[in-house]
Amino acid sequence: MNIILLGPPGAGKGTQARHLEEKYGLVQLSTGDMLRASIKRAEPLGLEAKKIMDKGELVPDDLIVRMIESRIGRPDCEKGFILDGFPRTVIQAEALDKMLADKNQKLDMVVELKVNEDLLVERVSGRFTCSRCGEGYHDKFCATQVPGICDKCGGGEFTRRADDNAETMKARLGAYNSQTAPILPYYESKGILKSVDGMLSMPEVFHELEKVLGVAPSCGCSCGCSCE
Ligand code: AMP
Repeated sequence: MNIILLGPPGAGKGTQARHLEEKYGLVQLSTGDMLRASIKRAEPLGLEAKKIMDKGELVPDDLIVRMIESRIGRPDCEKGFILDGFPRTVIQAEALDKMLADKNQKLDMVVELKVNEDLLVERVSGRFTCSRCGEGYHDKFCATQVPGICDKCGGGEFTRRADDNAETMKARLGAYNSQTAPILPYYESKGILKSVDGMLSMPEVFHELEKVLGVAPSCGCSCGCSCE
């Protein structure tokens, strides 16, 4: 299954994609993570992108499309993938259709995570990630059980994204509304767009996602939500 998670910064795309990856073996493809890895390796591409990312603007389409094209061509994507943070413009969406058609593949579904804008700045401002295993946390909504220790792997080092601040967030939201939101009608016209309420708790959003993807457990679940 090949799916896209769409939504503004802070909607929970990365968190949900990681859980889908763990549970269903789909590969999470996050263009933001790829760019941050490139910055960490001090590659020319990453260093060029960093200036743009720090301003909350979008990296040029051709660069992003080349990056995702080489990643989608790798064998681990044959089982299916979850795109998180790509496409972000209609040009990228069209390029994705073409690259998948060239590989005799297609998109199965695009899921929009709908979140009220007021909540996004708060969500983004408090988030941090375990440097060792990548588990995501939040100062207010989802802190570690023992302060300073990752619940999942026991690691003691965490990172916060340079662009997760109120000022850059304004630009990122602006970019989402003007450049990324127009993708929604593009996929709606293809009949593959669904939406999920991203304001619910993390396990509830995951369960709603499983339902729209048609993979939800059929008899109850352990996530604490009100599933039928
Ligand atoms: P994200 O981790 O998805 O929030 O992305 C962080 C930043 O990386 C964005 O604000 C953009 O500057 C850049 N970026 C990530 N994905 C894309 C994309 N598909 N197109 C353009 N820029 C991107």
